[in-house]
Parts: sequence; C-alpha cells; structure tokens
Amino acid sequence: MHRFPLSVLRAPKLSQSVSSQILSPRIQASVVMAQHRPKTTKAVIFDLGGVVVPSPLAAFQEYEKKLGLPRGSISGAVVESGDNGAWNRLERGEISLSEFADKFSEEVSKKAGKRADMSGLMKFIGNSLMKPNQSIIDAVKSLKIEGLKTALLTNNWHWEGEGPNRVMDRDLFDVIVESSKVGARKPERRIYEICLEQLDVRAEESVFLDDLGVNLKAAKALGIRTIKVTDPTKAVLDLEQEVGGLCLRRFVDDTTTVPEHLRIPMDRLETYFNQQLNLHSPEPPVIRCFRHGQSNPTYYVYYAGKHLVLRKKPPGKLLPSAHAVEREFRVMKAVGQWGVPIPRMYGLCEDSSVIGTPFYVMEYCKGRIFKDLDLPGMTNQERRDIYIAMADTLCKIHRVDISKAGLDDYGKKGGYLRRNLNRWTKQYEASKTEEIPAMNKLIDWLSQHLPEKEAVTIAHGDFRLDNLIFHPTKPEVIGVLDWELSTIGDPITDLSTCLLNYYLPANFPMIRSLKETDVKSLGIPTVEEFIDIYCQRMGIPAISNFDFYVAFGLFRFAAIIQGVYKRAISGQGSAPNSVLVGEFAKLIAELGCEIASSSNLQPTVSPIGGGIQTENMSGKRNYSIGTAGTANQMVVSPEGLSPRAKDLYDRVKDFIEKEVKPAEKEILEFYKPEQNHWRVCPVILRLKEKAKAAGLWNLYLPKESDPGMKYGAGLSNLEYAFMCEEMGKYPLSSEVFNCQAPDTGNMEVLVRYGTEEQKRQWLTPLLNGEIKSCFGMTEPQVASSDATNIESSITREGDHYVINGHKWWTSGALHPDCKVCVFMGKTDKSAATHRQQSMILVPMDAPGVKIVRPLTVFGYLDYPAGHAEVIFENVKVPLGNMLLGEGRGFEIAQGRLGPGRIHHCMRLIGNAERALQLMLERTQNRVAFGKPLAAQGTIQQDVAKSRIEIEQTRLLVLKAAHMMDNYGNKVAAPEIAMIKVAAPNMALNVIDRAIQAHGGAGLSDDFILAGLFSWARVLRLADGPDEVHLRSVSRQEYRKYNLSKL
Ligand SMILES: Cc1cc2nc3c(=O)[nH]c(=O)nc-3n(C[C@H](O)[C@H](O)[C@H](O)COP(=O)(O)OP(=O)(O)OC[C@H]3O[C@@H](n4cnc5c(N)ncnc54)[C@H](O)[C@@H]3O)c2cc1C
Repeated sequence: MHRFPLSVLRAPKLSQSVSSQILSPRIQASVVMAQHRPKTTKAVIFDLGGVVVPSPLAAFQEYEKKLGLPRGSISGAVVESGDNGAWNRLERGEISLSEFADKFSEEVSKKAGKRADMSGLMKFIGNSLMKPNQSIIDAVKSLKIEGLKTALLTNNWHWEGEGPNRVMDRDLFDVIVESSKVGARKPERRIYEICLEQLDVRAEESVFLDDLGVNLKAAKALGIRTIKVTDPTKAVLDLEQEVGGLCLRRFVDDTTTVPEHLRIPMDRLETYFNQQLNLHSPEPPVIRCFRHGQSNPTYYVYYAGKHLVLRKKPPGKLLPSAHAVEREFRVMKAVGQWGVPIPRMYGLCEDSSVIGTPFYVMEYCKGRIFKDLDLPGMTNQERRDIYIAMADTLCKIHRVDISKAGLDDYGKKGGYLRRNLNRWTKQYEASKTEEIPAMNKLIDWLSQHLPEKEAVTIAHGDFRLDNLIFHPTKPEVIGVLDWELSTIGDPITDLSTCLLNYYLPANFPMIRSLKETDVKSLGIPTVEEFIDIYCQRMGIPAISNFDFYVAFGLFRFAAIIQGVYKRAISGQGSAPNSVLVGEFAKLIAELGCEIASSSNLQPTVSPIGGGIQTENMSGKRNYSIGTAGTANQMVVSPEGLSPRAKDLYDRVKDFIEKEVKPAEKEILEFYKPEQNHWRVCPVILRLKEKAKAAGLWNLYLPKESDPGMKYGAGLSNLEYAFMCEEMGKYPLSSEVFNCQAPDTGNMEVLVRYGTEEQKRQWLTPLLNGEIKSCFGMTEPQVASSDATNIESSITREGDHYVINGHKWWTSGALHPDCKVCVFMGKTDKSAATHRQQSMILVPMDAPGVKIVRPLTVFGYLDYPAGHAEVIFENVKVPLGNMLLGEGRGFEIAQGRLGPGRIHHCMRLIGNAERALQLMLERTQNRVAFGKPLAAQGTIQQDVAKSRIEIEQTRLLVLKAAHMMDNYGNKVAAPEIAMIKVAAPNMALNVIDRAIQAHGGAGLSDDFILAGLFSWARVLRLADGPDEVHLRSVSRQEYRKYNLSKL
C-alpha cells in the first residue's frame, strides 16, 4: 500500500539604482560608458597658436600698430628671413630670447624700412595667448575621457615662464612636442615623426589640427588625417566626424558621449524644451552623459545658453518602486521651497512617449564637489567651515515641515528603521553568495535594539559630503544631490550616513576613511563634535543610541556591497572593480558587529501583550507581539519574525508553492510501481539540488546547538517553527530542504556530541544530503515507551564494541542511501538506571546488520525510507564510534528529542491546515440535499471547530518553542509534553473531519487525507505514547502545588 515517502513526511534588487547612488562616485567611478570611437583613431594632435590659443598673427598686427610699423612687417620678416631667420632659429631653440630680440629687430627694421624694437614682442604675444579657445579645450578633455590620446605639437620659442604653462594645464595632453626642445619645427617631417613616436600610434591612426596649410600638407604627406582650423568651433564639429561621432563639445567633468543604449531622441527633447520650458535656440542641444548615474541615466544638456541636467528612468522593465525620478523631482522641488539648497528645478515630464521614459530637468550647478574627506589644500578654518555647512544643510532638510511642504504622503510616518532593516535584509539574502555569520549577527542585534522612538522628518537617505555641491569659493552648499533614497524617515540615519567614514577601517579600499586621521589637527570636527553641532542646531537632546545608527548604516552598506558583488559575479555588474568588493561586505558586517558588541545599548523590550494588529493586502489578519528572539517577547505570526528569519520563511514558502506543490503528484505516481518503492525519485533529487542552491538547506539546526552557524541557518526554534508549518502542508518539502527526521535529530546529535572524526565521516555527508541515517531504540520484546527497558547490548572487546540487539520501527533503515544507525543499547547493566544506556554509531553495511522486514502503518510502507525490523548480531564497530561516552545515552536522548518534537508538531499544524483547505474546497460546490455541503450547518461547525483547534494548538506550540529559545529545553519540558499530545490529536480531529466531508474519496489515495491521518496517528506513539506525556504534564501540575506523591 502506498502513502507518501516517510522520509519526506518527517521530517529562493537593491535596486541597482540604490547601489550606484550610494557607491557613486567612488566604487562606481570606474564605470565607463560605451565607446563609439572607430578603432582607426587613436590620437588627436593639436597645434597651439591658432588652434588651442588664438593665432599670433593678430598679436603681430597689434604690435605693428603699437610701434607704428607698416602692416605685415613682422609676419613678412618671418617669411622672408626663412630657415636661418631669427624667428625660425628661435623656434628650433638655436638662439636665446635676447639674441632673437637683436636679430629679429634687424630683420623687421629692414622689412619695415624703419627702426623696429622687437625686445617686447614675445611678452606681448604671450599675453594675447592667455585666453585659450574653450571649444578646443572642451574637445581635448572629451577625447581624453573617451580614452583617446592627445598631443600638442607646437612651433614654439623659449617660453621662459611666458609659455603654455601660463596659458593652460599641460596635463591636458599626453604628449607635448615643442620645436625649441626637439630642434625641429613644422613643417619638417621629423617633428611629426617624433610626435607619432611619443604617442605610440601610426600616422593613419591620428588626426592633426592646424591653422596653417603648409603644416597640414606635411602631416598629410605622412598619412595623418588633417583638419584646417579657421573657426575652432567648426573645427571641433569636423573632428567629431573624424573620431566616429564622439561628442567633443561642452565638456563637463565626469561626462562622456551618450552611449548607444542610453541615446534619446534629440528632436523630441528639443520640442519639449521649446514647448514646456519655453527655451529656444537656433542651435540644437548638446548632450553628454554622466558616467555615474547608472541607475537613473543622467545627462548634461546645453541648450539656449542654459547648462542643464536631465535625469530619466532607465529603459526596459523596472521594479515598480525603483528609479522613481518623479519622487526625486517632487521632493527636491518641495524642500527647495523650504530653504534646502537644491538646483533650480525646470520641469518633470511623466509622459514616456517624449523620450522613452519619464524624466526631469534641473539646472547644472557649477560648484565644488569634495571627494576627499580631509579636504586637502585648505586651511583648518576652511575645512571646519565646510563641515559646519554640511551639518547646517542636514538640519535644513530635517527641519522641513512635511505637511507644509505637501509631502505628507511621501512615505510612512514611523517604523522607518524596521522597514529598512527588513528591506535591506531581503536585498542581502537575495544577493548572498556565501554565509556571512557577522551579517546575521548584526541583523539580529539590530532587530533587538531597534529604537523605541524614532523622529519623523524628511530623510535624504544618502547624505554625504560628496553628494553636496559647494559654492565655487564660499563654504556654502548650493545643491544637495542624489535624493533617490529619500523618504519620510528617521533623521539620525542621515547623520550616521554622513559620519560613516569616521568608522571605516583606515585601509578600507576605494573609500577614504577618517578613522585614523587626526581630524582635529585638520580643523575637521570629530564625530562627537559633529553630532553636537547637529543637535544644537536642531535643538534636540544628545543622541544616546548613536551606536545603533552606526551599526545600521554599516549593515545597509554591507548589504549594498553584497548586491554589487553578486551582480558582478553573475555578469550583470558594470563596474570592473565590483568583483573585488566580495570581501568588503564581510569586512563591513564585522565592523558593524564590533560596534554592536562594544555597545552598552540594552535590547529594546516592548511591553508584553502590546501587539500590533494590521490588515494585510489580502484582508487576512496578522498580528505579532514583540520581536523574535528577545526574552519576554513572543512572535505569534510570521510577520513578527526578525528580518532575516522572515526572509527565509518567505523563500521557503515560495519554494514550496512554486517547486514542491507542482511536483507532488509526479513524485507520488513515481512510487506507485513496486519496483520503485525503495528507490529515490529523481524529481526529489532535482528539487533538493535547487533548494540547496537557493540556500534553503539544513534550516532545522537550532541556534543554541550551532551558535556559529557552521552547519545550519542559525534559526531559533520559534523561527523555524513557522517554516515547519509550511513544510507540513506539502510533506515532501522536509526532504527537499534536508530537514527530515530522523536525519535532523541524528545530525543534531553529531553536531552537539560528535568527535571531529565522527563529524567528518557521518555529519558532513548527512549535511550535504549525500547519505541518510536511522535511529535504533525501540525493541519488539520490551515496552520501549520506557527507554530504560531497552535491552540491546554494547560490549567493549579490545579495540572495538560488539553490538547485539533486536530493533524495530527503525525508520529510515530501508532507504537505499541509509549508511549509519544511531544505536541505543546498554553498556553497563549494573550502573544506575539512567547510566546504563549508551548511543553508538553503527554503519549499516557492517557485517551482522540484518534487515528482517519492512513494517507497515495502516498498510502503508512509507517508502523509500520505511520502518524496519533489524537484527544486530555480533556487529563490531571501532571504539571511536561511541557517542559522548559510555552510559550517556539518556543525556543524548534528552538533547535529541527537544527540537524534533517541535518540528513534528508544527508540521502537524501544516497537515491540519492543508486538510482544512481541502475540506473548504471540496464542500464549496458539492451539492447534497439541495444545497452545497458548505451550506450545511454541521460542515460549518466542523470548519469552525477546526480553525479554533488549529489556532489553539499553534499558540501552544509557539509558546513551547519560545520557552525553549528563552529558558532552555528543561524549563520548557511541560510545554513540550503538552504539544506532543495536543498537536497529533488536533490534527487527527481536523483531518478526520476533512475525510468525512470528502465522503469515500477521503479514505482513498486520490486525496492526501488518508495518508495525513495515518501519520498524525503515528505521532500519538512514535515520539512516545500520549500517556507518557500526559503523565509528565499531570506530575508537573501536582508539583506546582507541592501535592505530588508520585
Ligand atoms: C511509524 C513509527 C515510526 C517509529 N520510528 C521509530 C524510530 O525511528 N526509532 C525508534 O527507536 N522507534 C521508533 N518508533 C517506535 C516508538 O517510539 C514506540 O512505538 C513508542 O515509543 C512506544 O513504544 P512501544 O511500541 O514499545 O509501546 P509500549 O511501550 O509497549 O507501550 C504500549 C502502550 O502502553 C501504554 N503506556 C505506556 N506507558 C504508559 C504509561 N506511563 N501510562 C499509561 N499507559 C502507558 C500506551 O498506551 C502505549 O501506547 C516508531 C513507531 C512508529 C509507529
């Protein structure tokens, strides 16, 4: 007869936006947009006079005028004197400036026909060259950011302090070739060759810009592409063509050409500017793309004389709450009217048909952004003023009157910390690549220390020095950027965010830490001073629980970093460095833990019974009392679980719904043919792999047995109880999550009491789900409900033990992968009653282990694990197989059975929930005697009674789990005994009613009800008969009043 496999009975985006916001610009600084440059162009070479700076010819004419010389005398002298003339020799560096002055004065005098003193010419020219052509400078900067090489190729003279150093930043160019230094001048072939050589490019890979045709001709002869510069602005347009359409105009720091996938229709944008913003220009807009702003593509736009920033949602399918540019626009505009410095907001366009996605336009603020927190190059006073301005700005944000600003509906008022703890825990769990114990500890600590009171203000969400634009010269914030994470929230989170760098380790990569900086000596406020400044300006008392906020900030940071890492290793990350950040999440979480453990903060305890009632979306009632894992508080519904446990619970539930539920029928069908009874269904194996990969594995090991979470998920009994209930609805799931009895109990024994060798040999493969195990205690010949009766013998003989015994109901022994038995027997019959029994590990393939037969339960074989009758005849095992020590069997049994009982009981609640659901479905439409069964009063009563009993029992089970977690298994013993009786009996009642409501079908294998019933019945015996537990409950009752004579 077939039921369902016993072994299965017993027993799944920070948003990218967020990361780029928080990590930008540092971590994501290396994100480089797509490049459009054709491979053929690797370098661009610029002439100086007439290209980068104005032509000296105009200066010649002015100088001629100044000295009263005929027009053209200076340039004429240059040409007529030729190669050996003073000008050309100066350019080649063959003569000094004073020699030049004498010689050139002679040459010009000759040409002008009158005395001409040329000693002041060079200085005069130098001054006239002071103002470089901005369009060319923009082009050079643009080329560099796109990765092209740039060179300055100039026929110069001995500059002696009057040259390019004064005119421009020499660092703009990768290569500077000056005729006076190389001894050759344009148009000599050699000087071009030198330039190409230094650039390390071939002639055809380069473009040359000059205003003189003769120079261009020589370059062309070499194969260099050329552009004649008459009008620098036009020349840049020509150059754009030569470099494959890169945008070389209106350079702004950190911007590049708009990559292909982020392009927007410019004609439509222009129409929007004209019609909605009333901006008009004969010139089309120039658009560039900011390199950070990965989440919400951000553009610099120049149009109608305005410097603008356009920020839009990215293209493609988005999470509903992510990339909310509309929110950013709204909050910026609102707070801007209440004194918070923000750029001028031009307009919001929510119509996706304009440029593809909604966007907004604001002013581009020209100012200073400080990326180095120690503000190099400033005086102490300047630094202090900058930090004070930052604190002032934060206060301005937090002082905004939410209602008056029209932001009442901008977020929930209150509960910000818990909500964010949940949100980031979920993000973290979803991006986890390995277990980070420090992260779990940190989450637990945070959930236990959530502040009882939170202030409610506008919270920026990512308030940092480098998100502020300062006035170009004054210590004054002129723009607060990056409002993407803003909401109504707890203001102190902003304060801790902007001070986080004071806590990061000094050697923390990518982000500058102030931890070991002597901030005082730099004039920068210490953390304490900064908080004082903030509190004074806000008019609030000192912050007593700042530790919490720092730990919270570090937790959030670690969660974000983990997300970046996960995306990087899964190939979605765009930052080349992000693969390296894998270790940092751990580092930050550990830092958070250090802060938590050195904190004097007491856990926050809400008053008992102070429950919160909420109505969820589906109209179902949820309620919770307190926070999981905190003494004196008990969670009574999954909604009250700690963020980490809640996340696991959600994923377990989701996995069951999406994976196990659809596979149940197929698995049960697989086991129908006799030849499959003792085989493992491949579908189960596949599901196990999937669950394992999703981290839904070995969830059962309680925190107390495995505090370091070396083996399991580190859940409390209560947390795991909720997951067990879900597994009970689809009994196959326990096996799928490697959470099935008797392996769970056996693994716990090995974790608690096993030697390293025992762990290596048996625990590891059990944890990996590679082998199965059984537990051999019950014997046919003695009343085994009293374990002192167990008669099997374990006798020490030399270097091994010899085992003899007759066992039955050894569940799991028939499983094809069962490799080891935790065997109970007597080592010393003469010892005190509870010291006679020991537990020892017996390999199932040891000679002398004989499976006699499979036992049935109501005719069910419970394959593939089964319940076996087994004979152990002179079985020899090494001494090292003894668990804990001779005579300590009862000690182990007590430890083993506590958590396991909770598991069975919660699964029974799940069994009952499923039965009740089936009953509701069945009676809904089936008509008897003129009306649906559901309309019959008795059925309604059965449904109601079932619901009441389920709820009662669940509360009792949760209480038992809560007691175990907070006061230990011993104190919780009465509650454990109570649930052992209550849960199977409740389940039997509920399942029985469901069977009855199904009529004959309820008893068949067409429904799972008969199987569930038989299993609930088993559990009135299998973990000890009801009577034994009732006995201990009643004994407790008598003892309470000192009335016990038993
Ligand atoms: C499906 C199934 C799976 C099992 N799996 C395992 C397993 O994996 N490993 C294992 O070792 N065992 C297992 N067992 C055995 C189970 O633990 C025992 O059946 C149980 O402990 C009772 O022992 P017994 O069968 O020897 O009954 P007995 O001890 O003979 O008891 C018989 C009856 O006596 C009554 N009784 C006993 N004590 C008292 C009392 N103090 N007061 C009043 N009445 C009393 C109860 O009604 C009890 O049912 C399993 C049993 C089943 C049915």
